[in-house]
Amino acid sequence: MLRRSQRKRIKLAVIYIVAAVLVLVVLPWALYSLFGEREELQIQEDTIRVQLLRHESNKIIELGLEEYIVGVVAAEMPAAFPPEALKAQAVAARTYAVKRLQVPDPRIKKISLQADLSSDPAINQAWIDNDEMKKRWGITGYNTYRNKIVSAVLETRGQVLLYGGQLIDPVYHASCGGKGTENSGEVWKYDIPYLQAVACSGHPEGNKEATAVFQLTELDRRLGTQLAALPAAKLTGNSSLKINEKTVSGRVKSVSLAGKTISGTEVRSKLGLSSTWFSWQMEKNAIKFTTIGYGHAVGMCQYGAKALAMAGKNCEEILLHYYTGVTMGKVK
Ligand SMILES: [Zn+2]
Repeated sequence: MLRRSQRKRIKLAVIYIVAAVLVLVVLPWALYSLFGEREELQIQEDTIRVQLLRHESNKIIELGLEEYIVGVVAAEMPAAFPPEALKAQAVAARTYAVKRLQVPDPRIKKISLQADLSSDPAINQAWIDNDEMKKRWGITGYNTYRNKIVSAVLETRGQVLLYGGQLIDPVYHASCGGKGTENSGEVWKYDIPYLQAVACSGHPEGNKEATAVFQLTELDRRLGTQLAALPAAKLTGNSSLKINEKTVSGRVKSVSLAGKTISGTEVRSKLGLSSTWFSWQMEKNAIKFTTIGYGHAVGMCQYGAKALAMAGKNCEEILLHYYTGVTMGKVK
């Protein structure tokens, strides 16, 4: 039988050992997992170089193609998306860039003869550097997400999309809203064979409604209409404001507003609406627009790519779904 004093000593010893394990092993491990430097994956030297105009500073920097793609994927797709979706984004971003390295883009050349691409998403693709990634994700997120993106880029290194042996223009958008994608000819002047409407669903998180309210005078200013001058009774009737035509996928192709016909894409851009899948409601001296989805809805739907990746599709299957009749190629 142990004496009471011996039992007390053993109990104390156990407490000391547990405390020592916590302080010497568990705590350093937890701190390391949270803040420790992890090996940063590196992209090897690249013979294909990109002259990138950083639109915020108006300075041109030179970087390797694959290094450029890392910054584009980081800027253009949420890093928490599954690896196969990030890989699909990397291939689309690379195809876009290589096409502009081969055939200079007049929009960027107008700004700078030396630059191949701009980091301004309104001109080319968005691009962020490592400092911006740290700001967006914090140090712990940076360690995880940057390596995840670099892996997606390295695993698809050099891969591009071709149609009839030529590089395609792989446009993409955030979310089709679950309606399926759109024919390019419904949004732009040209109907491109590989940019056709395809089914897309299973991404409810990308289908949230957004609303935007505009005073009638503001609508008139932006759209060149005469809505504020109409009597209230006419505004609430169906004849003064109506959808004239819908696209193949059911989005707004053209509207008639107080006798003026305007295309859905024009309404979207002039009002800064999230998509052309919109409806409206009259409010006192104002109109409330409700939209679903985000972007022009042509080409790859990023939320759809995420949904397909989560359903087990790989990068190539995702890309071949959104870009009709294309094949995977390699940059030479
Ligand atoms: Zn979609």
